[in-house]
Amino acid sequence: MSNKDVPTQQFNSLESWMRACADACRPELAQRWHETQAQDARSGQRRVHYLSMEFLMGRALRNALDALNLSGDFDAAARKAGHEGSAVLDREADAALGNGGLGRLAACFLDSMATLGLPSFGYGLRYEYGMFQQRIQDGAQIEQPDDWLRAGSPWEFARPEIRYTVGFGGRVEADGPGSMARRWVPAETVRATAHDMVIPGHGTRRVSTLRLWKASSTMPLDYASFSRGEHAGAAQQRLQAERLNWVLYPDDSTQAGRDLRLRQEFLLVSASLQDMIARHLAEHRTLDRLGDHIAVHLNDTHPALSAAELMRLLLDEHGLSWDEAYAHAHKALSYTNHTLMPEALETWPVRMLEELLPRHLEIIYEINARFLAEVAAKFPGDAELLRRVSLIDEQGERRARMANLSIVMSHYVNGVSALHSDLMVETIFADFARIWPERFGNVTNGVTPRRWLAQCNPALGAVLDKQLGDQWPTRLDDLGGLVGKGNKVSPTLIKAVQAAKRSNKERLAELIRRELGISVSPDSLFDVQVKRIHEYKRQLLNVLHVISRYQAIVANPQAEWVPRTVIFAGKAASAYVAAKSIIRLIHDVARVVNSDPRVGDKLKLVFLPNYSVSLAEVIMPAADLSEQISTAGTEASGTGNMKFALNGALTIGTWDGANIEMAENVGREHFFIFGLLADEVQRMKNLGYDPRLYYEENARLRAVIDAIGSGQFSPGETDRYRALVESLMNRDQYMLFADFAAYCDAQARVDELFRQPALWGETAVRNIAGMGFFSSDRTIREYAERIWRAPLNRA
Ligand SMILES: *Cc1c(COP(=O)(O)O)cnc(C)c1O
Repeated sequence: MSNKDVPTQQFNSLESWMRACADACRPELAQRWHETQAQDARSGQRRVHYLSMEFLMGRALRNALDALNLSGDFDAAARKAGHEGSAVLDREADAALGNGGLGRLAACFLDSMATLGLPSFGYGLRYEYGMFQQRIQDGAQIEQPDDWLRAGSPWEFARPEIRYTVGFGGRVEADGPGSMARRWVPAETVRATAHDMVIPGHGTRRVSTLRLWKASSTMPLDYASFSRGEHAGAAQQRLQAERLNWVLYPDDSTQAGRDLRLRQEFLLVSASLQDMIARHLAEHRTLDRLGDHIAVHLNDTHPALSAAELMRLLLDEHGLSWDEAYAHAHKALSYTNHTLMPEALETWPVRMLEELLPRHLEIIYEINARFLAEVAAKFPGDAELLRRVSLIDEQGERRARMANLSIVMSHYVNGVSALHSDLMVETIFADFARIWPERFGNVTNGVTPRRWLAQCNPALGAVLDKQLGDQWPTRLDDLGGLVGKGNKVSPTLIKAVQAAKRSNKERLAELIRRELGISVSPDSLFDVQVKRIHEYKRQLLNVLHVISRYQAIVANPQAEWVPRTVIFAGKAASAYVAAKSIIRLIHDVARVVNSDPRVGDKLKLVFLPNYSVSLAEVIMPAADLSEQISTAGTEASGTGNMKFALNGALTIGTWDGANIEMAENVGREHFFIFGLLADEVQRMKNLGYDPRLYYEENARLRAVIDAIGSGQFSPGETDRYRALVESLMNRDQYMLFADFAAYCDAQARVDELFRQPALWGETAVRNIAGMGFFSSDRTIREYAERIWRAPLNRA
């Protein structure tokens, strides 16, 4: 055996270890799945069906071992075989069937649904390629396909017997005189086959199911043409079907608008609804009480075609009247809005719907006609109102508005944080809130404390077990007990939490050294911003502060600087030029800062490539400072903010999204809040915002912008950041300049506190203690009680 073979050998053995462990979990998962299905069928309770184009699951092995109480056995067995347990776990590929927050939320929700014993299914698509893998070449992002199924998934249960036919295109025929029923004759059909992942609950035998659809051709291979050597023609059918689940659309906040995306959305909707109806008929024989038995939740508008497809199935396939069908659909459907940004609001050209889903377009028109008649009766003479709320945008190319469709057909619509839900009814959905005020509400997001604390941060988990007992992962309010009588925090507890943080920082420093060859000091303040790269999230504001700090250090290297390691990670959508330019700038600035001998440990800047759930699990526990600095009014909730605080990071953040509720739960005095409020942002925009005034008045800001603009960080290409600088100087859509001074002041307050380790440590404990509210268990309880009216069966 040559030297070159050694790593391969080891790879194989760790990989087979990982697979063997997954295989060992499967029979128990399958057993629990059957028990849960039998219970739910017997009880006849309402089931929740969570429809989402994205489920950002990450790895499953540690979570399964944890849920099955096998973690201890696993660690011991791995050690005995001479393996590091974590090295075995690292061999599993992330299931990255999502882009960011929206997909990760769906994954946290499944964990809580299982844990709370909610009868539930998640429905999604089985993408062959998930979120792209990010590589960095010469400081620039390169996308590579994420071939996560290369070696097959150890967690899938293929269900070849569970399959449905999904149509596209064709025409609509009348079906009997005077009847609402029409017959859709699709031009093409594909078959959707179920592939299940069992989602185990914690502290319960109950599970949830993630059912992913795989599309394949309904046509048998055209053997005759194949035999004639016409391989291309024979393969055409297959390709046409299979391309449906090739790849996840990698854009997190603009609408794709492509034919293939519309087909993917309909595949999800149609297969899932057929599955629900088939299960309902098997259990109840009639559709009389369908709306009482199924809750269908739309994770954003991506599955909004559910409204039309459910109506079509009930009208055309099952012969219900319009009123009956509508009553079932309205009882079943509910919708969560995730963004107020206009570029993310989904609309589809009527022309595309006409071609691809002609019957659904008819149904949308009928829903619209009845809805507009109702509005006209309620608000007579308001033609402008009708134009604005119509399901069809008649200006320019006619387009169907998926948010409007979702609101009209749902019995409940929610936003994802208190501020977001308020803004939702004050701005984009103000007309609908006037029509149906009782339909709108808020359910603040949460994250699962199992993955995001117990599993990713065993060092802190052990401290909590000792202090609070071991029930906190399913009773997160217990964290409040970290603050003792008389509002005191025990110094021993602070020390123990700090020791856990220290070991997690060492682990991350080691990862940084291995990945980037950069040595960072675990004594420095780990200042972290990890999330999708987006202008509204303002990674660029963070970079401006880093440059300013660099300039100040160089000007005065002898001063008592608090050493900082500024850590970024995040992917930019492949076509998002401005976001990619920010990644490039981070690398350019990092090269200059990290190699400047005057700076040393006082400041280091690193960008960890390929942000993912698994990378987040290493980063979150090691952060001292969490950067949540979106322009107020733009971040719907954020969930990264919650993961950080749960792991004892302090937050520097704007008064935006769930930051607000976090600050209120923790105590504002333990948060670094800065910047304009949402209504101040709006007022300034209305008055005419001029970023140049800030540039001219603030010498510190001017020095930073001039350094970028002059090419100081890109000496080989001095105008590399011209577009970026011009966009800031002329428009600054997200008001970085307006918040720059306040941000720098807040960073100075961070330094001040970090100089007092005991006080910083106490503040960290108070932050953890205030996070009980942000468990996704609380979120799912609220959905179950208020929206789904479905039972929890926590055994
Ligand atoms: C939590 C999470 C997100 C969401 O982060 P935000 O800071 O809320 O935008 C995105 N990606 C991954 C991998 C996550 O774990």
